[in-house]
Amino acid sequence: MNNQSQNYSAIASTAIEDAFRTLLENKHLYQSVEISTSGFAQYIDREAQKEISLQAMVVPGRSFNASSSRSKEQILEDCRKKAVEGLRNVTYQMKFNETPLQTENFGISVPTIKAVCQNPGCGGLWPHNACPDPSWFIPPVSMISGLQQVFVLRYQCQACKREPVTFLVTREGLKLTLTGRSPMEAVDVPNYVPKPIRKYYKGAVIAFNSGAILPDIFMLRTMIEQYMRATVNAGEKKMTGDELTDAYASSIDPDFNRRYQSLKPVYVTLSEAIHAAIDDKPEIFEQEQAKILSHFEAKEIFERLAVK
Ligand SMILES: [Zn+2]
Repeated sequence: MNNQSQNYSAIASTAIEDAFRTLLENKHLYQSVEISTSGFAQYIDREAQKEISLQAMVVPGRSFNASSSRSKEQILEDCRKKAVEGLRNVTYQMKFNETPLQTENFGISVPTIKAVCQNPGCGGLWPHNACPDPSWFIPPVSMISGLQQVFVLRYQCQACKREPVTFLVTREGLKLTLTGRSPMEAVDVPNYVPKPIRKYYKGAVIAFNSGAILPDIFMLRTMIEQYMRATVNAGEKKMTGDELTDAYASSIDPDFNRRYQSLKPVYVTLSEAIHAAIDDKPEIFEQEQAKILSHFEAKEIFERLAVK
């Protein structure tokens, strides 16, 4: 490997490592990140400059052929394509303990990441170290979009050093997708969300993070429906949405109803979305989730500070 390609490999490795870190720290199941090629800008300029100089050189014994000469823009574009194609079609190999680089592969240092530890007694967002990974045994496949690779990455919490979390990452050319993880990602539920309905809230957020729009809206409605039914002691009684939300509102201090977010309009919006089978408007979930949280937060404070 000459100096130039080592330089190229170093830029590529940094870009790939950054993409892996972003994917594992910030993205949810089935979400993707694209490996950035912006770090190659100077390299491409340098390579293009070399080719421009080479083209301008008069080679003894060879006549100048104007038809084969390329414009500066064309040379720049060719160099850019070459740099991106390299990144798209070369095998990425995870390296542990600074194992020597294989030629023709990019050796990637598996980044340390921050992840939520779900081990009992630990919990919280901690740095996680990569465990040695056998995924380089899985052979890459050549696709139209670039080389396809699958990585199994295991990470251990630095704080408790117990059960690792495992991520499955699929690479297609420049695209990295989080295609699996175990255990399922942790959902941070605010303390003021009542205990009996926390499981529905978690289910709604996991569905939303996985891109399941209609199921997440359904889970959100189930959450407030179950809460309101329990509050008004509905038992097995059948109630319409109007009856339920009105009964719930009348169970709350009128002062609270006047000043804070009510659950009735939220229930109506979510029910309409379910009946219309809306599965392409994630903003409905985000808006109604914020309103529900605002209701429970206000209610917790209101009840805690109420004169007994
Ligand atoms: Zn831990």
